[in-house]
Amino acid sequence: MSDAPPPLFPLFADLRGRRVLVVGGGAVARRKLEPLLAAGARVLVGAMRLEAEVAALWAAGRIDHVAGAFTPDWLEGAWLVVAATDDEGVNRAVAAAAEARRIWANVVDDLALSSYQSPARIERGPLQIAISSGGGAPMLARHLREKLETELDESLGALAALLLRERHRIRQRHPRLPGRRRFFDTLLAGPVAERFRAGDADGARAAFEAALAGAPRSRDVGSVALVGAGPGDPGLLTLRALRLLNQADVILHDRLVGPGVLALARRDADFIEVGKQAANHLVSQDGIHALMLEHARAGRRVVRLKGGDPFVFGRGGEELEFLHAHGIGFEVVPGVTAALACAAYAGVPLTHRDHAQSVRFVTAHCKASLDTLDWRALAQEKQTLAVYMGVAGLEAFRDRLLSHGRAATTPFALVENGSRPEQRVVTGTLRDLPALAARHAVQSPALLILGEVAALADTLHWFGPAPLAAATPAPAPPDTAIAA
Ligand code: SAH
Repeated sequence: MSDAPPPLFPLFADLRGRRVLVVGGGAVARRKLEPLLAAGARVLVGAMRLEAEVAALWAAGRIDHVAGAFTPDWLEGAWLVVAATDDEGVNRAVAAAAEARRIWANVVDDLALSSYQSPARIERGPLQIAISSGGGAPMLARHLREKLETELDESLGALAALLLRERHRIRQRHPRLPGRRRFFDTLLAGPVAERFRAGDADGARAAFEAALAGAPRSRDVGSVALVGAGPGDPGLLTLRALRLLNQADVILHDRLVGPGVLALARRDADFIEVGKQAANHLVSQDGIHALMLEHARAGRRVVRLKGGDPFVFGRGGEELEFLHAHGIGFEVVPGVTAALACAAYAGVPLTHRDHAQSVRFVTAHCKASLDTLDWRALAQEKQTLAVYMGVAGLEAFRDRLLSHGRAATTPFALVENGSRPEQRVVTGTLRDLPALAARHAVQSPALLILGEVAALADTLHWFGPAPLAAATPAPAPPDTAIAA
């Protein structure tokens, strides 16, 4: 048997209108004040001096203050005390005086002197999750907190608030526990929670009223979330994307979505690769539409996962129009688009007070897209072009820009596999763009950043190997043709 102490007893205390003493007026005390005030406590701060923000709270009448050295009579009427001074002797005296009066005391960062501890917390409105390691491993508690923060949707707060407000009506309608339990089950898995997640408070309320009235549930209809997966680095996923990936029944993903991102998704979801490769079409756009419809109509939660952002050269608009026309509910989660990710990971600020006041996202994947671009506008200087393109079109792209007057010396940075471990960046000037891309055998996916700012990559790069600049000696000539 180990001689570990017994576990702490968890407690959520109602501090409204109750006196809490905080001893100490510095930065540590300030951090302790905020949750106490949020809980409605009447806080008395006893301290020699108040640091500026604490003094401001006092001036605003939000706390009371007693100046000077600690004396036990400060504890008069207190339910709880926090000792947050940097003087161990004072902290010890506070703890002893509190113990004698049976007042719970927390001495910041001193387990032995504390009779209560404040847990790591996750808050969603009235819903709170408190984590304690018994004081032995606060880092572990904090780590868990971060994990749960990413997993628990913000909208849980609104849901918890609704349930708190309506608890009497729910009880009246379902006086017996089994019925109440079933009601909550359908509530949490059904449209009420779903409407809150979609940011539709009115819809959630209406769904709640319908559920309470015992309206028969409409047949389960699935929905589609159009989710941006970012450029490859899983760290660039949004929290919302991560949550949806963990709730999905079916994930329809592009080829561009990296394995690191897919590894974060729910294991037993159905993964269907629908990506399109320039030459080798896996599933046509119509086929993608049909798959979304089939799975949504079967009541499944479908995530349509796209590289980068779904609305930037991702045909996301067409997919939503299709879903709308077929009455399927949807939501859209933005992703970090290739232009933003490649710029960040290559050290190229897309705008810069000295070099560029605007930035354009351009696609130049095929000849038709080259013909429809406004070349005169693109050739203007002091602007940045972020060009989503196959590397095969670089020569035509350069020629058109030059013939419309963009300087041959305009810097570029060509970013291959931006944000991924195998990222490469080639820098140079517009004149040499196709030759340098060929020399370094740049492959798709690659994003071209053209404009004065691109030169900054040579000094501001920080991720992966340094840019292959024009002066870099050529590698052995590639023996394969450059891929499109
Ligand atoms: N919706 C996507 C773009 C799809 S078009 C987004 O918002 O990023 C595909 C083009 O995006 C590729 O040809 C390439 O030019 C660019 N691209 C996507 N991911 C990239 C990456 N990791 N590195 C460089 N370019 C990328």
